[in-house]
Amino acid sequence: MMSRKTYIRNVKNILTGEEMNFRTCAVCDVLKKEKEFVTEISDTFYRRCRNILAPDTRIPSYLVDCYDVSAFIPELQNVLLSKKRLANYGNNEIRLRVCASCYKSLPSGD
Ligand SMILES: [Zn+2]
Repeated sequence: MMSRKTYIRNVKNILTGEEMNFRTCAVCDVLKKEKEFVTEISDTFYRRCRNILAPDTRIPSYLVDCYDVSAFIPELQNVLLSKKRLANYGNNEIRLRVCASCYKSLPSGD
C-alpha cells in the first residue's frame, strides 16, 4: 500500500507534468521519461555507433536512404536510425535522442 505522502507526490508529479514527458529512444525504440535521456553525446559514442550500427552492404540503397540521418547529424555518417527519433530543438538544431541505458551499454566496437 502506497503511503499518503508518496501518493500525493505522485499526483503532484503528474499534475506538474514531470511524469508526463515521455520520449522514444533512437537506439532501443523504447518510450522513457525525459529525465532518462542523455543530454550531451560524446564523439566516442558517435564513433561507436559508426562501428556497430553500420548497415549491412546487402541492404538496398533506397532503404538505406530512408534511415540515413547523416544529413541532420554528420557524425552519424553510415549509421541507420529512424529519422522520427531525432529531436528537434528548434533553430535547425537536430540531435540524437538516446537513453542513458543505451548510451552506457553500447560496446566500444574497437
Ligand atoms: Zn535506448
